[in-house]
Amino acid sequence: MIKRYLLTPGPTPVPTEVALRMAEPMIHHRTPEFSKIFSEVRVGLKALFQTAEDVLVLASSGTGAMEAAVVNLLSAGERVIVVNGGKFGERWTKICQSYGVEVEEIKVEWGEAVAVDAVRAALERFPGAKAVFVQASETSTTVVHPVEEIAALTRTRDTLLIVDGITAVGVFDVPMDRWGIDVLVTGSQKALMLPPGLAFLALSARAWKRAARPHLPGFYFDLMRERKSQGENTTAYTPAVSLVLGLHAVLAMLEREGYPNVFARHARLAAATRAAGEALGLKLLAPRSPSPAATGLYLPGGIDGGKLTKYLRDRVGVSLAGGQDQLKGKILRVAHVGYFGEFDIVTAVAAIEMALGKFGARVDFGSGVAAAERVLVEGLPSA
Ligand SMILES: *Cc1c(COP(=O)(O)O)cnc(C)c1O
Repeated sequence: MIKRYLLTPGPTPVPTEVALRMAEPMIHHRTPEFSKIFSEVRVGLKALFQTAEDVLVLASSGTGAMEAAVVNLLSAGERVIVVNGGKFGERWTKICQSYGVEVEEIKVEWGEAVAVDAVRAALERFPGAKAVFVQASETSTTVVHPVEEIAALTRTRDTLLIVDGITAVGVFDVPMDRWGIDVLVTGSQKALMLPPGLAFLALSARAWKRAARPHLPGFYFDLMRERKSQGENTTAYTPAVSLVLGLHAVLAMLEREGYPNVFARHARLAAATRAAGEALGLKLLAPRSPSPAATGLYLPGGIDGGKLTKYLRDRVGVSLAGGQDQLKGKILRVAHVGYFGEFDIVTAVAAIEMALGKFGARVDFGSGVAAAERVLVEGLPSA
């Protein structure tokens, strides 16, 4: 028997009370019973997004909401600016290009955040750009981009700021309305502690004006239509009923903990993971602007990260993420997003220490765990 630990940045672990809620008998979606739950979910989502606007619920993975933003706000041939500093930045480019939207990329070195000056320069060079696309947290490189500062540039221009917040919303403070974000997107399987299958997005008042004009053709992701239905506490098409029930339980859990505490927990777990990495001599992938959702750590030279993560997953029972593309085999990503607590970090760090030992690296067992504990103990209640 191997006890399994899912410590990846999506899908993330699902709390038992949420899983049980989703196991309730199916209910029909065109009923007062569903509408009541949905109306409560809608209120909770506004608090999560920190917006007065509607937060729409879509049945898709997070990428569906990314695509919905593109389709509803742009036309073929229009120009946009994309911050591409990792796999998910690249995804904005791919979605836009597949619809004939003209992309000007700001390429960012993996592990670095975009320079605000680079965004300002792009906006000056392409004053007609209809939108800037960015990740609040680029999960593939464990970086946080400076969304607040970028919003300060876009809100005074006729350029929308479209933000992928899939590992940011519910992880750290991203006040959509206060910062002036025009579109904010998230998904169910990261901070929201649910299985994959729901995506969410909210539009600012000026983004809704843009959506009311002619735009790229589409049918399923018709946000004007969804807004009308969801405003009446129903959905245009069949919703993912069980996931919505789970979401109802998740929002109650998050509100019980309180968002400031949720953000502080993520920050603490991230700080502990970074401290452990440092103690083990593992260089941080994103030392200057690390994400509170996941921590990227370089492995010692000569250790194959692909083999190490496979060994941990298949032989030891601990699933951690590796690197993609040019980081393949070189890094580990330790998640601390969603239903994560102090002892998940202890588990992850201990597993890394032991695996490094098995792979022949020089490691002082317990040194990473001790460094993590020194940070984590601050999060425990006083005796
Ligand atoms: C996970 C993730 C996505 C992709 O979401 P899917 O649910 O796989 O479609 C997009 N952006 C970021 C930053 C993510 O972490």
